[in-house]
Amino acid sequence: MLSVAEANDCVLRRAETRSSSRVSAVDACGLILAEDITSDVDSPPHDKAMVDGYALTTSDLPHTTTLRVLEEVTAGDVPTLTVVSGTATRIMTGAPIPAGADAVVMVEQTRSMTRDNIESVTLDTVALHAGANILPRATSLRRHDVVLSAGHLIRPIEVGLLAEVGRAEVAVLPPPRVAVLATGNELVPAADVPAAGQIRNSNGPLLQALVARAGGIPLDLGIAPDRSDALGERIEAGLSGEVLLLSGGVSAGVLDLVPAALAAAGVQQVFHKVQLKPGKPLWFGCLIDESCSRLVFGLPGNPVSSLVCFELFVRPAIAKMSGRSEIHPPRREGALTRAHVQRGNRPTYFPSILSEQAGNLTVEPIDWQGSADQRSLVAANGLAMFPAGDHDFSPGDLVSTIPL
Ligand code: AMP
Ligand code: MG
Repeated sequence: MLSVAEANDCVLRRAETRSSSRVSAVDACGLILAEDITSDVDSPPHDKAMVDGYALTTSDLPHTTTLRVLEEVTAGDVPTLTVVSGTATRIMTGAPIPAGADAVVMVEQTRSMTRDNIESVTLDTVALHAGANILPRATSLRRHDVVLSAGHLIRPIEVGLLAEVGRAEVAVLPPPRVAVLATGNELVPAADVPAAGQIRNSNGPLLQALVARAGGIPLDLGIAPDRSDALGERIEAGLSGEVLLLSGGVSAGVLDLVPAALAAAGVQQVFHKVQLKPGKPLWFGCLIDESCSRLVFGLPGNPVSSLVCFELFVRPAIAKMSGRSEIHPPRREGALTRAHVQRGNRPTYFPSILSEQAGNLTVEPIDWQGSADQRSLVAANGLAMFPAGDHDFSPGDLVSTIPL
């Protein structure tokens, strides 16, 4: 049986990015840029006022503090008159500085008056240096500058920058489409009332939400019963995306038909079972054709096992396929707040409450009834990793953790 690290290697070796596609800059948020972005403008495009006030020449100061107002320039206008000694232009934030002016005094530090139709302004301050309250042209970027490089993760701030440099569309690495298929005769959709012997399909919605959070595009394939023909049909549909996630049907029960149905669909098994708790029955395979390879995960049926396998294997695959440089979420060591008993030859990923206390991470394993118990997990925000082997952990012992 493979270790978690070996299984991870097998998955990541087969996870590839697709060729780039063009999307709107807003839709590119959360994706990886696939081209260098060059600015077509200086920013700001002109020397610009940083405050509402009056543009003047500092050579008038400190002697001349009452100035004749020439005109008013608001953002979007272009000044028409040159500021000379004894004059000023009323100017609003963002507007271009008129020729001749070399500073802007804030309106709050002035008093204006109009007499005989002539407007003047008196300054309450003479403490103005040349350049005060002016942002010079091209301070933040110059035309032809490369402002973003291929490989950069686009966040909202980058979307704003793309707009500033004239890019409404950009080339990105498209995230993988991830089909989700729950299997099991006992399953009914969340909106239905289960009859005797039935339960609701938790894994379908759980996995779709995990896929979306991990940056993939979830495709819902619903529920397939434990019948080879029905499984085969849905698997065929699921192979239209780059990744197919099935849940259930990969253990050793009489109706665990998923591995055989995948083999019949041409999906080659890479591994079945991993040295791991919960999540040991995990199945992984690959369908390779001329265009690309599709990754197929048969996740265990119990919801918490599915979640742990997703975090350990599927999330990193989606990250790599999306072109992200951070493939694995950051792992940190934390100190246990209570004793914990670890038994058996498989490492255990135990739902826990991770808290930050004075810069140190503490780890409280939750009261948990095993891999079918989703309800207790609402308290958890991480997994604590207890290595294989029999060991009694004490409060204060350090363990490795994964955030959820
Ligand atoms: P299996 O791996 O199919 O034997 O399923 C293992 C356990 O997980 C069984 O108790 C199933 O009823 C349960 N299970 C399987 N699929 C789901 C699902 N989609 N939602 C909730 N529980 C499930
Ligand atoms: Mg089943």
